[in-house]
Amino acid sequence: MGRAFVYVILGGGVAAGYAALEFVKKGVSHGELCIISDEPVAPYERPALSKGFLLPEAAARLPSFHTCVGANEERLTPKWYKENGIEVVLGTGVKSADVKRKTLLTTTGETISYKFLIVATGARALKLEEFGVSGSDAENVCYLRDIADANRLVNVIQSCPEGNAVVIGGGYIGMECAASLVINKINVTMVFPEEHCMARLFTTKIANYYEEYYKSRGVNFVKGTVLSSFDFDSNGKVTAVNLRDGSTLSVDMVVVGIGIRPNTGLFEGQLTLEKGGIKVNGMLQSSNSSVYAIGDVAAFPVKAFGETRRLEHVDSARKSAKHVVAAIMEPDKTGEFDYIPFFYSRIFTLSWQFYGDNVGEVIYFGDMSGSAFGAYWVSKGHLVGAFLEGGNKEEYEAIAKVTRLRPAIEDLTELERQGLGYAVTV
Ligand code: FAD
Repeated sequence: MGRAFVYVILGGGVAAGYAALEFVKKGVSHGELCIISDEPVAPYERPALSKGFLLPEAAARLPSFHTCVGANEERLTPKWYKENGIEVVLGTGVKSADVKRKTLLTTTGETISYKFLIVATGARALKLEEFGVSGSDAENVCYLRDIADANRLVNVIQSCPEGNAVVIGGGYIGMECAASLVINKINVTMVFPEEHCMARLFTTKIANYYEEYYKSRGVNFVKGTVLSSFDFDSNGKVTAVNLRDGSTLSVDMVVVGIGIRPNTGLFEGQLTLEKGGIKVNGMLQSSNSSVYAIGDVAAFPVKAFGETRRLEHVDSARKSAKHVVAAIMEPDKTGEFDYIPFFYSRIFTLSWQFYGDNVGEVIYFGDMSGSAFGAYWVSKGHLVGAFLEGGNKEEYEAIAKVTRLRPAIEDLTELERQGLGYAVTV
């Protein structure tokens, strides 16, 4: 049993949805494009799962957040794929790939062949077991990567009104889930090994602002330690979290957000890997010229930094998806992917954006006791990164622009004096 397509997208997440839209914009013919996904639903905006999806009232549910609403583009429902002649194979995993023969073998036993393959397999949540702790299967221990996880999390939240939750991990997932749990009137303790939250991105000063805000909303922080084991009741439900510092926290539920691992397994030994992902060039093409990679799974050259990076953020998934379609369909008209990293988060009523790189000296601006403040990063005499909390559209656009321009900064004191005004006027 087998089918052949010109273009196959492996994975049905954010990058797949944005690539599909671009294929249609560029005039793909009916029957040429196939998307294969092990998820049961068409591509959706994954960031919604830790935000609107978890609200106690008027929660976001599909089909409202199918891609590409997150970038104010068309919402691609199953009907849209059908009307545009795109074959979407859902609920079907790919279990092996043969890049020499240009074929994929699905879990249903079908062989799908391609002329061009776009790998958009994203990443999976790291499990506690990978850190030597067992208990991930307990009914009140939750992860959050896909819609099935999100549905489960909602059920667990509803099963323990005003209960106690421990959130393991102080990154994006931990911070956003903690905020959503508080909004659901759950008492939250966050546990993570670092000195402060969002350790890979935030400085101590920025992290402190968010931690203080979280504390004002009732969140407790236990920092500098990790989970060592769970206590269970006779039904296998977790009743307490034991930490390596010797303390114990009673719980009704646990949310684990301890990082992700790119889904590269199908291509190990077949494609060059780097930074945990599939290494691609500026055209997002892997070491096999028929195979491209985009989104969380791709390690691509960030021109502005002169190095290869793998990003785990929705904007790079969207933009790399758009670029790969141009690179494949219009190679002569398409240059190298030139992307400035962009991360954002929305928690409670707060909202921040970050552009560029967080290296070098940090210059803060604005009023940290008020609602709007930010920071610039200056490295080797150039502004390379910018962060802003509580900005408006024009201000966010300004910090995006200034980061892309990488202006030379001679006087740090003057930059500090001008603050956000520097980005707005540059
Ligand atoms: P994914 O969206 O993960 O899609 C990968 C797809 O491939 C999935 O459908 C998966 O099931 C499928 N797949 C994998 N292996 C196979 C296989 N063998 N066979 C078939 N199908 C397969 N980023 C931000 O910048 N801001 C945010 O606020 C933010 N919030 C987030 C909140 C949550 C809860 C999560 C989980 C992520 C969030 N992100 C956020 C990150 C963002 O969602 C990801 O960067 C983005 O989804 C990456 O897109 P992708 O297409 O590469 O991978």
